[in-house]
Amino acid sequence: MRILIAGGAGYIGSHMVRMLDSLGHQVVTFDDLSAGFRDAVLGGEFVQGSLHDKVALKSLFDANQFDAVVHFAGSIAVGESVRDPAKYYQNNLAGTLNLFDAMREHGVNKIVFSSTAAIFGNPQYVPIDEVHPQSPINPYGMTKWITEQMLRDYDSAYGFRSVALRYFNAAGASPDAALGERHDPETHLIPLVLRAAKGELPALTVFGTDYDTPDGTCVRDYIHIEDLCAAHVLALQHLISGGDSRAYNLGNGQGYSVKQVIEVAEKVCGKSVPVQYGPRRAGDPPSLVADASKIRKDWGWEPKYGELETIIKHAWQWEVRKR
Ligand code: UDP
Repeated sequence: MRILIAGGAGYIGSHMVRMLDSLGHQVVTFDDLSAGFRDAVLGGEFVQGSLHDKVALKSLFDANQFDAVVHFAGSIAVGESVRDPAKYYQNNLAGTLNLFDAMREHGVNKIVFSSTAAIFGNPQYVPIDEVHPQSPINPYGMTKWITEQMLRDYDSAYGFRSVALRYFNAAGASPDAALGERHDPETHLIPLVLRAAKGELPALTVFGTDYDTPDGTCVRDYIHIEDLCAAHVLALQHLISGGDSRAYNLGNGQGYSVKQVIEVAEKVCGKSVPVQYGPRRAGDPPSLVADASKIRKDWGWEPKYGELETIIKHAWQWEVRKR
């Protein structure tokens, strides 16, 4: 397959590029490096460009006959999206619209889309399955929800076939520590916990201790980056073989609180994590846990690294290696 990876220099995109490349597919990364890193692209071809640049998109599609697109290019921080929604509507919607237009103009109609558990908002029940009502509570989730609606309309009007994968919390690193989680600034829990363990951060701030959860801190479902990417490979195979449009929730089905993540990290690193307690972060639902039984049943997807300890171990090996 010849696959375009929009956002292939980012955390998830770079693992995806490497996985598809190692499976023998031709991969082209398109990334403006606003949040990604050139040296994280370990296979295929790299084209630097922005989804806001229609001319660059046209030349990209003129130069390649893509079988499908995997779309990771977007802004991802919930807290930032509450403070600066314009950035999210620009990057995640205007940029995505340009990508879809370029696909349409060049007869490319298969796409795997990075969606999110944030489309569900405050859960009415957990674990969250695909029929759970959707009601995003932050602009990040809203942009992803709107894109899913666009995909539905593009399917009926233009024959777009899509798989939207609603990630819960992508985490971990490649088991050989060649790639890992890298954001600047870093806002995600596991890398920050590990930096606090290393002494690079004075303390990890726990955002909120008064949630309606067993220990008062937020509960999330952490899924290993390689298990997440493996689901994209199944999605591509489904679309390339003529499959219909689908959406799946993607997580391990097990929730861990912020405090539990810290405890497991302390065990994995053999170091204590200095902690301070702060107020809630705007836009955070108390608990997000996936019911991923649909993708397991339909496509036989099974996590290889389902244990939080393994996820944190790989993240730690990467943190230790990278400097
Ligand atoms: N979190 C925290 N301190 C931090 C970063 C995150 O307490 O410095 C919490 C956050 O409030 C959420 C969970 O950790 O409940 C996971 O947050 P993250 O930003 O990693 O992912 P998100 O759930 O926003 O996608």
